[in-house]
Amino acid sequence: MSILVFIEHAEGEIKKSSLEAVSYAAAMGEDVTAIAIGPVDESILKAAGKAGASKVLHAADEKLEKGLIQPYAKVIAQAMEKEGAKTLVLAKSSLGDPVAARIAAKLKAGFVSNVADLPDTSSGFSVKRSIYTGKAFANVEMTTETKIIGIKKNAVELKEDGGDASVEAFEPTLEDADFAVKITSQDKQTGEILLPEAEIVVSGGRGMKGPENWGMIEDLAKTLGAATGCSKPVSDIGWRPHHEHVGQTGVKVSPQLYVAIGISGAIQHLAGVNSSKYILVINKDEEAPFFSAADYGIVGDAFEVVPKLTEALKAA
Ligand code: FAD
Repeated sequence: MSILVFIEHAEGEIKKSSLEAVSYAAAMGEDVTAIAIGPVDESILKAAGKAGASKVLHAADEKLEKGLIQPYAKVIAQAMEKEGAKTLVLAKSSLGDPVAARIAAKLKAGFVSNVADLPDTSSGFSVKRSIYTGKAFANVEMTTETKIIGIKKNAVELKEDGGDASVEAFEPTLEDADFAVKITSQDKQTGEILLPEAEIVVSGGRGMKGPENWGMIEDLAKTLGAATGCSKPVSDIGWRPHHEHVGQTGVKVSPQLYVAIGISGAIQHLAGVNSSKYILVINKDEEAPFFSAADYGIVGDAFEVVPKLTEALKAA
C-alpha cells in the first residue's frame, strides 16, 4: 500500500510546498506515489523522486491545465483508488484545501490541514495542527481508515537526496459536468512573483512616508528576488494596491524570509506573517512591537538602511 501525494506545479516547476509534502510522506516510511495534474514537462516531474517519491502519475489532459477544484478532486480520488492508497498528503494551499475537502466528503475520509509535524502513531494516529496563525498547536486524532493530511508550508524539512521518480501516464475518467466552471484567465498579483507563494517578501509600512518612496522597497525586493507587500493602512491610503496588503484581513504569507520595513508590528499584521521562517525588521523605533517577533532586527532609519542594504546585496 502506498501514500499518494498531490503535487502542484507552476511555471514549469513543482512547488516547493508540494516537495515538502512528498518529503513528509516519505518520512512516514511508506512507498510514495505522487500525482501531478495538467500539462507539465515529464522531466520536471521526475524531480519529485529527490524528495522521496518512487513514481509520479501524470494526468496530462490539457483541460486540466488550470487548478479546477471539482475535476482535480475527481482525478486524485481515482488515483487513490488505482494505487490502493488510504492516505493522501498534499500541501496546504488555496487549491489543496478545497480539493482535499471534496475528496474527504467523497471518500468519507478524515481531513486535517495545516499539519506541522509527522503523525504520532504510538496509540492511534494523531497529527499536530498549527492554529491561531501559528501561535498554538492542536493535536488531532484521525480515526477514519482513509486519511488526508494537508502540510503547513515550511514546516517540513525538504528531502533532496532521492533519485529520479518514474513517470506514468494516468488517464482519469472525466465528464463534461466535471468542468462546470472554467478559469478564463489568471493575473499575477505583484511584480513577477506571487505574494502568497513568495519565498522572500519585502513589505513596507506607514514608516515609508509615501508612495514616492516605494522605489527603494522595489529595488530591495528585485535584488532579493522577492515579492512586495505592505501593511493595511498603506493600501487603505492608496499608496499600494489592496492585493499587497498582508495580515489578518489581507494576504497570509509564509516565506523563508519576511522583511518588514517601517511597520510597527500590530497583532493584525503579525497574523499574516507568523508562518515566515525568518523575519527581519527594520524600524527606527527600538520599542516597535515587531522586534519581539523578529529573528533579526535593524534599529535605524529605513531611508538610510534600505539603500545601503540593497547596495551591499548587489555587491555580494
Ligand atoms: P504604523 O502603526 O503607523 O507604524 C509605522 C512604523 O514605522 C512605526 O513602528 C515607526 O516606528 C516606523 N517608522 C516610522 N518612520 C520610520 C523610518 N524612517 N524608518 C524606519 N521605521 C520608521 N494591519 C495590517 O497591516 N494588516 C491587517 O490585515 C490588518 N487588519 C486589521 C484588522 C482590524 C480589525 C483592525 C482594527 C486593524 C487591522 N490592521 C491591519 C491595522 C493594524 O492594527 C495597524 O494599525 C497597522 O498594521 C499599522 O500599520 P503600520 O505598521 O504600517 O503603521
